[in-house]
Amino acid sequence: MAGQLVILAGGKGTRLAERLHGLPKPLVDVAGVPLLERQILHAKGCGFDSVVLLVNHRAEIIEDFCRARADFGLNVCLIDDGEPKGTAGAVLAALPVLQDDFLVMYGDTLLNIDLGRFQAFHQARPDAAACLLVHPNDHPQDSDLVEVDASGVITGIHPYPHPAGADLANLVNAALYWVRKDALLPWVEAHTPLDFAKDLFPLMIEAGQKLYGYATPEYIKDIGTPKRLDRAVADLASGRMSRSNLRSPQAAVFLDRDGVINKECGFLRSKEQFELLPGAAESIRRFNQAGLLVVVVTNQPVIARGECSEAELTDIHRRMETLLGAKGAYVDRIYFCPHHPDAGFAGERPELKGPCACRKPEIGMLLAGQKELNIDFAQSWMVGDRTGDILAAKRAGVRSILVETGAAGLDGKHEVSPDYRAKDIGQACEIILGARS
Ligand SMILES: [Zn+2]
Repeated sequence: MAGQLVILAGGKGTRLAERLHGLPKPLVDVAGVPLLERQILHAKGCGFDSVVLLVNHRAEIIEDFCRARADFGLNVCLIDDGEPKGTAGAVLAALPVLQDDFLVMYGDTLLNIDLGRFQAFHQARPDAAACLLVHPNDHPQDSDLVEVDASGVITGIHPYPHPAGADLANLVNAALYWVRKDALLPWVEAHTPLDFAKDLFPLMIEAGQKLYGYATPEYIKDIGTPKRLDRAVADLASGRMSRSNLRSPQAAVFLDRDGVINKECGFLRSKEQFELLPGAAESIRRFNQAGLLVVVVTNQPVIARGECSEAELTDIHRRMETLLGAKGAYVDRIYFCPHHPDAGFAGERPELKGPCACRKPEIGMLLAGQKELNIDFAQSWMVGDRTGDILAAKRAGVRSILVETGAAGLDGKHEVSPDYRAKDIGQACEIILGARS
């Protein structure tokens, strides 16, 4: 693949001054290598052949830096755009030299992302004005959150602070965008300064342009303060950053929902009924911190039976993410099966009736995780309270833990025994983390 990377390399880096020793912010040292060099070499390793640097502060130092490294063997173009125009304003001013599609990266982010996978996502959506990299974090309550619909289209951006009692999906704009040049042409006359997240994206959504969210658990962090920089250097040293790249096979914990994460209450139909089980948030946070992907896989036949709509299910999941987020925990993906094999319920939806490949003990939801997140089943686990969960794990070659909460494995549907038994998700967490250490 080929591609063009646009780096927003302006900014004075006032907050990082003590680490800059007089250098411009993009050249800040990150464990012996300047950040800009890390960004360019990472993109080069992902196949990019063109780099555009948008600079408005001490451009000559950045230019000398690149020339001294023979432009890293790439086509590097530096544009000094004078007055700060804001992130979107700077890109709009540079449009004449930009390709039909380009990747916008901020000059203060350290990342290790499979950019080719992200590019393929963008290319597969010809109606996208832009695709924004989004991810969950452990403090959604004080983050700007994006809202996406079932097809991945961003329907709103919710800036912090959020209204009290709001249930929002835990998806944060990570400031890495694939942008289609055509889609920006209508905005070249817009007033600057113009910021992507605060100004232009909301305007584009309002104008009916389609922005997609590309959710990934890969590593991307803003290192604009000494504290953040130190944390990122530690992640680099521990290997956490490189392991998160989706080109590496990932270890995951698949979690059933009802009876494992939250209290089983017959069939959960509204968010008011959703209650986390003791230890659930703490366990999920520990999985997050250990670098294990957390993937919820839940059978929701209530959808097929017409007892709960997709919108109500979305609300339930937002409530779950909000409750987890308040305790510093997050899930990386939620898969649900809306089908049900048996007909005969009043108000049911015939199109969702019948056999499917996703309802556990089928393994369609696990396969989706394998495909989208490069999950390695041999390194992964399933925690469930029903025999269907355990049978799905066996079929996929994932180690299984049956918990005594919820149905406690007494549903009698399948003749199967788990690899481990645990009192609850907390004990399951001990088993999983114990096996990894
Ligand atoms: Zn299904």
